[in-house]
Amino acid sequence: MMTAIELSRASAKLQRNCRTSPYLTYHEITEGESKYLYGISRRQFKEHLRCVQRLATVNCSGPNLLHITFDDGHVSQYDQAFSALQELSMKATFFVTAGWTGKRPGYMTWEQLAELARCGHEVQSHGWSHTLLTRCSVKELQIELSRSKSDLEDHLGAKVNAISLPGGRWNTRVLEACRESGYEQVFTSDPWMVSEDVMGLQIAGRWMVTRNMNAQRIHFLLEGKGATLYLLRARHFAKETAKLVFGDSAYRSLWRMLANKDKSQEDARIASDSARRPQA
Ligand SMILES: [Zn+2]
Repeated sequence: MMTAIELSRASAKLQRNCRTSPYLTYHEITEGESKYLYGISRRQFKEHLRCVQRLATVNCSGPNLLHITFDDGHVSQYDQAFSALQELSMKATFFVTAGWTGKRPGYMTWEQLAELARCGHEVQSHGWSHTLLTRCSVKELQIELSRSKSDLEDHLGAKVNAISLPGGRWNTRVLEACRESGYEQVFTSDPWMVSEDVMGLQIAGRWMVTRNMNAQRIHFLLEGKGATLYLLRARHFAKETAKLVFGDSAYRSLWRMLANKDKSQEDARIASDSARRPQA
């Protein structure tokens, strides 16, 4: 458990860091409104894209400084988000769970990923089975990192050098394994982590976009301005503290309740994850 001194030190560190990540991360893009916290309607997604486009133009920051990313490889990213990106001539990075590709209902196929790559989008790794990397043995880590990388490279014929960490969990052992597996960039779920070089890797945080974020809020987040940021920073810190205090499984139950994630669906996913977990 985190001590009061550690909490106050972490809080002070957080207060000092006022810059925010230029990366936005989406999970599911739905045709209509969604009750799922990480489900964004296509209409809302397009408003976000226009906002990113405006900011890139106004700040002359260019498309390389503001990024749209996706995690998991849900099929709605192909069905709904892909055409919206094409309509606005914008590129994105798709971090996919390689072991789910073409196998798990509701997730993209290799043909769909190949089409994204052909149209100039990047396809990178989100691990092999979405297992939290901090819980993996040395051998499991190797499978999660190397197998996902080589499978994506073999199927898509493009270099994979970036990974987004499942559940945003990491430690120095995970970073070392990422570097040894040939990754150059590692993406976390911490929006307060501005891109930096750590242990020979470039590490960057990202904003996890939720359905209650309108285009104006996205504008504030990317500009690093506004009272909303203080609120979000406090919420993020509370979430991180909850993970440390309650542990991963209790936190996951809490998250499921708060995110309106269907319990039976999630339980099936966890059971399936265990069944598909690579052999140690
Ligand atoms: Zn994920």
